[in-house]
Amino acid sequence: DPNTPRSLREQLDAASTSASDNVKVVVRVRPSDADEAQGSLQQLSGTQVSIVSAHEHLRTYEFDNVLGPATSQEDTFKVVGSPFVAHLLQGFNVTLFAYGQTAAGKTHTMTGNLKDRSQVGLAPRLLEQLFLEISNAEASEGEGKVKFTVKISYLELYKEEITDLLGPADAPRLQLREDVHSGVYVEGLTEREILNAGDAMAVVEQGSARRRTNETRMNQESSRSHAVLTVYIESWTKADESEVECIRSSRLNLVDLAGSERNKSSGATGERLKEACSINQSLTTLGRVISELVEAQQAQQQGSPARHIPYRESRLTFLLQDSLGGNSKTLIIACVSPAEAAAAESASTLEFAARAKRIRNRARVNRDTRGDAALLRAEIERLRRELELRD
Ligand code: ADP
Ligand code: MG
Repeated sequence: DPNTPRSLREQLDAASTSASDNVKVVVRVRPSDADEAQGSLQQLSGTQVSIVSAHEHLRTYEFDNVLGPATSQEDTFKVVGSPFVAHLLQGFNVTLFAYGQTAAGKTHTMTGNLKDRSQVGLAPRLLEQLFLEISNAEASEGEGKVKFTVKISYLELYKEEITDLLGPADAPRLQLREDVHSGVYVEGLTEREILNAGDAMAVVEQGSARRRTNETRMNQESSRSHAVLTVYIESWTKADESEVECIRSSRLNLVDLAGSERNKSSGATGERLKEACSINQSLTTLGRVISELVEAQQAQQQGSPARHIPYRESRLTFLLQDSLGGNSKTLIIACVSPAEAAAAESASTLEFAARAKRIRNRARVNRDTRGDAALLRAEIERLRRELELRD
């Protein structure tokens, strides 16, 4: 009977699931440097871009958005950052990846210039809006009815080794662990509690400065390192009548990937190539995971059984496996240079992005079982009272 009010359980389930959704892909084209021959890319519309270089086959790609070279940091945030804040507060996981060759604008997009307010990137802007919406939610729900906690961790992954960018400088390398409650996590990684946007900015600055110091030590090789900034959000709400607690938790991963330039263009062979492969094992595996996932999901739709996906073959894909084909709303920002000399790399970045766009994820609201169990206990209590009234 469609008029029967839905049970509490049904209401819970409805709020906890969402239909499967494709990974979103946005291309950001960097402005060209004055001394570069330009014109390898042509933007055809707000969603279409072509490679027009003499050396690459002309091909047109369609994405969720194409942000041209004149797009400001603020407008980039409006398209690829701001829409996710509400999802995070509802309890959905969100992952943003920046992919592209070295100097294509990944770090500019993710962190930007932290010394210049108009030039800060997605991380500080997302955190600022997050705290704004948290204080709005706390104000509209009323005193003591809802409470949020926010924590941040920031790590660097280089040659498959994890460094804590918020830990002491002499901290040991960290290991990945997995358990049924927490899923995959980095053991011993610093999680800093953050009370406001100012705190958040200080932590982003601290970790980013550490990454730059490491870069100098590694002889400018940081283009081969990945950075993962994670924001953990937990909310606690108390419903009026039922006196029941509900705990939601979500996380935001901001992933600034290593430069995607292919080994062949760096001229590496033999031992050097092997080294390059191990440095970039995470990036290589990311590409494989995406290809195999797209094939496996397509086969599954045609009735084939689930296939094994090699998430565990790199630290990056193991840590972020939920972001690829799992419980997360995921967006990839493909950063490209318009320079003629970069045409082959830009083509390869767009190919990668086009493949990734076919991945389907299934994001759901993360509610703590304590909350669910409490709601169910309240429902049992209500039914029992109903039965007692009938007797
Ligand atoms: P990546 O992290 O991909 O290696 P960066 O973000 O460090 O590249 O960008 C390389 C240089 O180009 C930096 O000096 C950066 O400030 C500049 N840059 C990149 N994208 C833009 C942009 N959209 N607008 C202005 N400057 C940019
Ligand atoms: Mg960078």
